[in-house]
Amino acid sequence: MTEPLRIVIIEDEAAIRRFLRASMGPDEVEWFEAESGGEGTRLIAHKNPHLVLLDLGLPDQDGLEVLRSIREWSQVPVIVLTARGKERDKVLALDAGADDYVTKPFSIAELLARIRVALRHAARAMPATEAAYEAGGLSIDFDARQVFVDGEEVRLTPIEYRLLSELARHAGKVLTHRHLLRTVWGQAYEDSTHTLRVHMGSIRSKIESDAAYPRFIRTETGVGYRLIPEES
Ligand code: CA
Repeated sequence: MTEPLRIVIIEDEAAIRRFLRASMGPDEVEWFEAESGGEGTRLIAHKNPHLVLLDLGLPDQDGLEVLRSIREWSQVPVIVLTARGKERDKVLALDAGADDYVTKPFSIAELLARIRVALRHAARAMPATEAAYEAGGLSIDFDARQVFVDGEEVRLTPIEYRLLSELARHAGKVLTHRHLLRTVWGQAYEDSTHTLRVHMGSIRSKIESDAAYPRFIRTETGVGYRLIPEES
C-alpha cells in the first residue's frame, strides 16, 4: 500500500493509544485519536478511515452504542478492543456490527493479524476505484465521494451519499425500498421505509431545484426509487 493506513482509535486510555502509535509508526499508519465516542464518531465522518479500533468502556457513552450509531451510516471495518472478555459481550459487539473483537491485554502481533484480516474483507467488499457517474447535470466522483449538480458541489451526509451512490450504480433501474434499506442501513432495517423517505426527501432538497418536477430521482410509488439516467 502506497499511502499510509488511516486508522481512527477511540480509546480513553492514553497508554494504549501510545502503545499502538509506537508499534505502528507514521510510515504505516496515520492515527486519528479520540478519547470519547462523540469525538470518535466525528473523526470517522471527517477522516474517512480504512479501519476503526473501538474501546467499549468510554467516558461519554458505551462503545456498543457508538458502534450502532456508526453502523447507521458507515461500513468501515471496526475492531472492538475491550477488557470485557465474556462470550455474551463478544456476541453483543458482533451483533452491533463489529468486524472483530480483541480482548485486553492483547499482543500487537495478534492485533496486526486481525487488522489485516478486516482490511482484506473490506477490500473484497469494495472495488478499489470506480468510474465517475455523470448524466443530466448530476455527477458523482466515487473515489473522492463528491457530488456535483450542474458543476456545483453538493454536501451530502454519509448516509445520503450512500443512498445516491447506490441509485447511481443502478441508474435507470428501480431500486426497491427493501433493497435500499438493506444496502445502506443493513438487514435489520429492511422495513424502515419511513426513515428511507426522510433521507430521500433530504437528498432531493439538496439536488433537485423543483420537487414537483424532479430531474434526477423518480419515485416509483409503493415500490422504490429510480435515478433518471438522462434529462427527460
Ligand atoms: Ca476504556
